Amino acid sequence: MRDFDVVVVGAGTAGAAAAADLAGRGLRTLCIDRRPLNGAGATWVNAVPRWAFDDAGIEPPRGDELLGEGHRFNIVCGYGPEKITLDEHGVLEVDMRLLVARLHALAAQRGATLEGETSALACRGDVLDTSAGPVRARWIVDASGLAGSGLFEAPPVAREDLCVAAQEVREVNDPVAARAFFARHGVEPGDTLCFTGIAGGFSIINVRLDGEQLSILCGSIPAFGNPSGQKMLDQFVASNPFIGPKRFGGARAIPLARPRERLVRGNVIALGDVAGQVFSAHGSGIGAGLVAARMLGEALAAGRPYDYAARWQRRFGGTFAAYDVFRRFSQTLTEGDLRELMRAGLIDSDSATAAMQQRFPSIGLTSLVARLQGAAAVPRLAMRFGPMLARMAALLAFYRTYPSDERLLDAWISVASRL
Ligand SMILES: Cc1cc2nc3c(=O)[nH]c(=O)nc-3n(C[C@H](O)[C@H](O)[C@H](O)COP(=O)(O)OP(=O)(O)OC[C@H]3O[C@@H](n4cnc5c(N)ncnc54)[C@H](O)[C@@H]3O)c2cc1C
Repeated sequence: MRDFDVVVVGAGTAGAAAAADLAGRGLRTLCIDRRPLNGAGATWVNAVPRWAFDDAGIEPPRGDELLGEGHRFNIVCGYGPEKITLDEHGVLEVDMRLLVARLHALAAQRGATLEGETSALACRGDVLDTSAGPVRARWIVDASGLAGSGLFEAPPVAREDLCVAAQEVREVNDPVAARAFFARHGVEPGDTLCFTGIAGGFSIINVRLDGEQLSILCGSIPAFGNPSGQKMLDQFVASNPFIGPKRFGGARAIPLARPRERLVRGNVIALGDVAGQVFSAHGSGIGAGLVAARMLGEALAAGRPYDYAARWQRRFGGTFAAYDVFRRFSQTLTEGDLRELMRAGLIDSDSATAAMQQRFPSIGLTSLVARLQGAAAVPRLAMRFGPMLARMAALLAFYRTYPSDERLLDAWISVASRL
């Protein structure tokens, strides 16, 4: 039977980055994916903050892999006219097909074995049954995504916590009409237009003209009776004849619930979407998964898998759990509520930029006073906004106490589930 230090199940961004990191640290690593390797992971365009590449020790994308950087990001309430413009947000538009391929090449170059069209079936102690036969490993990393292998045992994500998103890159039939569309919203070609709240509070249509092609991203939570991201995208294309045929893209569900409190179960370790390492306010899992992969590499190289859980939760768990409270709040908002919050300055370019970068805004005294004045102008929403902020702050503080001793984790989880 083949024998490895680690088997990584799933060769998407999280799994491939983990395989590259683990192999780079000298661990004998096998990474398998049930799809052909060139179809593993995300096969569309994703927005990823630049800091995530730096923190993960991965060269940031460039050349064809980098489809956008430094463009302005415009958050529009419904279809307008209210809009917030973010001039600097530090988020890169990435062709995920090329990023995943680069991570595969890096992993292989560092000595990892990568095998496509190989499914993980079941795990018995240190033996993993795969469709290509059993393999033995000290650790099994489950990076198999939302609809994954089931090796890491955890309850399914509730439908109310699933965003169904679709992203497509399309040709432009009529460049003049395309530019006119953006001009109508006061936006330059190359900048992002993000229509929010058009199919429920937590929903977007995000469009960006990238030279000769148009990038479209749509997402919503269908459990609340809203059309799925794919349906929204199809409708948007049908009602804008300047949009041409699809070049590439894809659709899938994204888990929005706060991260799994437990990331390690015996010799099986959860990574990426399996672990709920998704910034739920905009359903972004790439950056967190990449950084988690590096933390995992460091922990396994030291022979202490639980250290990975403790480090990741202390660094990201609180922020992600807190923003999940905001996500739940946002999905109850009507377009009118969103407009009021923008007008009152409770959602502004500082808070939106921070959310884009997956961090908390730092609020100075002047800005705090302005926000309090704004809150006074919208008392009905402020009554809900205040308690939400308090819960966010409580979660942020609580995750900093994530135990470094695994034996204390059950007690910590029982308090966490009450928050
Ligand atoms: C349309 C859309 C747009 C998105 N936009 C963004 C964005 O802008 N920014 C962002 O950060 N995130 C975005 N996301 C979310 C992001 O794509 C995911 O969070 C990310 O892909 C998760 O990475 P992962 O490696 O954990 O899992 P995945 O990418 O799902 O990879 C898991 C891999 O495991 C394999 N696998 C599954 N089961 C098995 C098995 N039994 N055996 C072997 N292999 C298996 C799968 O074939 C797959 O290749 C978007 C998602 C969608 C759907």
